[in-house]
Amino acid sequence: MGIDGKPAGPFAIEDHPLGAADRQAMELAALQEAAQVLTSTLHLPALLEAIADQALTLIGAQRCAVFELDPLDEHLKARAARGMPPSHALWPIRLGQGAAGSAAVRRQVIFSPDVESQPLPMYDEPWPEAGATLREVVRQKGYRAILGVPLASRETVLGAVCLYWDQPHTYDEREVRLLTSLAQYAAIAIENARLYADIAEQRREAQFLSEITRGLASSLDPALVLRKIIEYAKECCGSDMAFIAPYDRAQQVATIVASVGTRTDVYIGVGIRPGKGIGGKVLETKQPCITSDYLNDPRLSHDYNPLAEQEGFVGNMAVPLLREGEILGVLWVVNRSPRPFTAGHQAVLTKLADQAAIAIDHSRFYRKASDQAERMRVVAELGRVLVSTLDESRVMEIVVTQAHETLGMLDIGIWLQDAEGGLLRLVAGRGQFSGPLTHRAAPMDPDEGVVGRALAEGLPVWTSDVLQDSRIRLQPESRRWIEEIGGRAILAVPLIREHVLGALVAYRPNGARFADHEVEYLSVFASQVAGALENARLYDESQRARADLQGKNAELDTFVYSVSHDLKAPLVTIQGMAGLLLEEYRSQLPEEAARYLGRIQANAQQMEQLILDLLALSRIGREARAATAVSLADVVDDVVADLAGPIRERAIQLVRGELPTIWGVRTQVEQVMGNLVGNAVKYLGDTSQGGVEVGAVDRGAFVECSIRDNGIGIDPAYHERIFEVFQRLKDVEVEGTGVGLAIVKRIVQASGGRIWVESAKGQGATFHFTWPKGPASELQS
Ligand code: ADP
Repeated sequence: MGIDGKPAGPFAIEDHPLGAADRQAMELAALQEAAQVLTSTLHLPALLEAIADQALTLIGAQRCAVFELDPLDEHLKARAARGMPPSHALWPIRLGQGAAGSAAVRRQVIFSPDVESQPLPMYDEPWPEAGATLREVVRQKGYRAILGVPLASRETVLGAVCLYWDQPHTYDEREVRLLTSLAQYAAIAIENARLYADIAEQRREAQFLSEITRGLASSLDPALVLRKIIEYAKECCGSDMAFIAPYDRAQQVATIVASVGTRTDVYIGVGIRPGKGIGGKVLETKQPCITSDYLNDPRLSHDYNPLAEQEGFVGNMAVPLLREGEILGVLWVVNRSPRPFTAGHQAVLTKLADQAAIAIDHSRFYRKASDQAERMRVVAELGRVLVSTLDESRVMEIVVTQAHETLGMLDIGIWLQDAEGGLLRLVAGRGQFSGPLTHRAAPMDPDEGVVGRALAEGLPVWTSDVLQDSRIRLQPESRRWIEEIGGRAILAVPLIREHVLGALVAYRPNGARFADHEVEYLSVFASQVAGALENARLYDESQRARADLQGKNAELDTFVYSVSHDLKAPLVTIQGMAGLLLEEYRSQLPEEAARYLGRIQANAQQMEQLILDLLALSRIGREARAATAVSLADVVDDVVADLAGPIRERAIQLVRGELPTIWGVRTQVEQVMGNLVGNAVKYLGDTSQGGVEVGAVDRGAFVECSIRDNGIGIDPAYHERIFEVFQRLKDVEVEGTGVGLAIVKRIVQASGGRIWVESAKGQGATFHFTWPKGPASELQS
């Protein structure tokens, strides 16, 4: 085409005929002035505008445009224009295309005196961005002559400046020289401005990053950090809007959580799927993506166009949030005009995306940690509540309520087995099951349903559709119930402790899933409820056993009492008649008969004692007399006085230590002491140095009494047996009924104390018992 380096034509400024030297001086002065203007601003957009102004002032043409080279897409983009509406400079010019593109790529002056006769480079090649050829565009704009000079520093091309004439224009060396010189000044000014912007940018960036880092460290609320990031992204990229969407790998969707600059907030919560729209492209490729025409870009799917149109999306740049190669989200900046995004913007946005990725990563960790903490809190709370009740139905109510609330209002039910291997019944529920549906649930066989499966496996079992799951057996009745409730995705966690108790069950609509944390939660709940249920049942059992025993004892006491009572009357008659016979008919009776009668009397007496003892024993449970303070010393003294006969006869050494006052029914204390001291005297054997010692030691709320003798002793094998009714040892011939110690034990136990013996055969015996010092109310305090 040979339009560059055209020989200079005749040179003249017709209106002001001046000498060459004057002209040069003027030019120099004008250039100096222009240079001064250009170096006075460090703000790039203002500078580019000033370049356009100065070019027109200095040279004079109808129009001027200043282009900046965008290294990102290697296109020249008009940043300032004079004498033409901005839409004329709309489309990015490729390197090598037209005057600007050729000037930039060749770093040469390009001049066409008339584009009709000397066409511009790539004049008739397709220009997709414009949808027309350059020739068509130029014709439409209607200029004829054009002069383009490069804006270039020593190493790099920064852009180009073009002057346009509406008529054909002859080559003017002076104009070329002036514009070239201006372009050199302009290039330096641009570099300075960029440098300044870079420094300012870096400073701001550093400040912002430290802010974000501080934010990350101080607040674990990722929403705040993400919001800050998009605000800053919008500011840095000079965009109209910015969005951010963390990506959920499980659900395969990035959800917009924050936006700035939008007219409405309908974008919040919008899910971006991989492959859809520019965000989806980024999710898929993990690469940044830039478009200057979002709605029509053929590289993108247009699923989100309706939303984008609402907001007037035009320019759009999206970058991935990456952490160790994993995609964590997407960050966008969006313009409502074709104002382009530069490499610098992309670099900043990428840095911000890194920060956002860290924030999201942190928040995930935080969520995990706080989930864990929450779970522990819930479990601790549940445990605390559960130990406070031993009532089975209350336990179940608490658990279903807690599970329902903790698991986001899931439908929850508890199925319990009647007995090991018995039918399963829905006994408690929340959500759907709090209503009459619970009662309509048909009992299931132990191997039926998800519950049966979970019990068989001893592990949680879940299905997304129980009616389609071949692992699960269901009877028609259960099927009907499940169809009715609609919860066909079922998770059952077995309740197993010592015994198989049943299962804790969650229900969701057909096809739904259960997250890992839900299974974990429910398992923890299940183990709690199994423990609590078992406790409640054990408690129930022991309560029942106790009541049972009490009933039986009372019955027995009544029986013993009435029998003893009824035996007494005939016995009195036998005793009376035997006495009469002996007294009145003594002389008529043969010796032998008299002896027999004597035996009858002795046995009747023995029997009377037995009946008295049994009556005493049966009365202990029914003791109605009030307890009072009782002097133990007085009681022992009375007992010893009663035993004065044998003590004197056998010269028994009796030592009574210091004895305190205790709290009880005096006659009962007398019975205890009478029996124990009496036995000590009775079972001394044939020693001539018998001794009995009664003492007491303080045991806090109780007194521990001991009665020691140096008699025949008791084989340890019988230490328990001797406290049972009618249990006597046969080693000595001493009278007795075998009821005494049984009475003693019952009285001591009824008072709240206990009794035991320390002894060995032939070594004497020491009986110990404890007895409260004061009333039961004091005992507790
Ligand atoms: P008993 O009417 O036979 O004395 P108890 O119930 O008082 O009935 O005592 C049960 C048995 O315990 C006695 O028959 C005796 O064999 C044994 N026993 C009780 N106290 C003593 C003791 N101090 N030394 C040795 N054996 C004793």
